[in-house]
Amino acid sequence: MPPECAACTQPTIRKHNPSGKFTVVYFHSTVEYPDDWTGHPENAVWFCAEHLPLTEGLTHLTALEAIDRIRAQLPQVKA
Ligand SMILES: [Zn+2]
Repeated sequence: MPPECAACTQPTIRKHNPSGKFTVVYFHSTVEYPDDWTGHPENAVWFCAEHLPLTEGLTHLTALEAIDRIRAQLPQVKA
């Protein structure tokens, strides 16, 4: 599965990411994983290059809190 930006709520927005680069951002962890656990931690979130700057200063929050704040900064998209 390709990475998906947590801030890109619509596929059309993703077209503004010509580099196709995604960066994983680690937020405050809310879950303890065993040492032998493998997978995608709940606090690791992908962002495209366009939205990556919005995560600055928010990594002390949990992923859910940070995504809420990031989405609040985005232009409102009608569902
Ligand atoms: Zn994005």
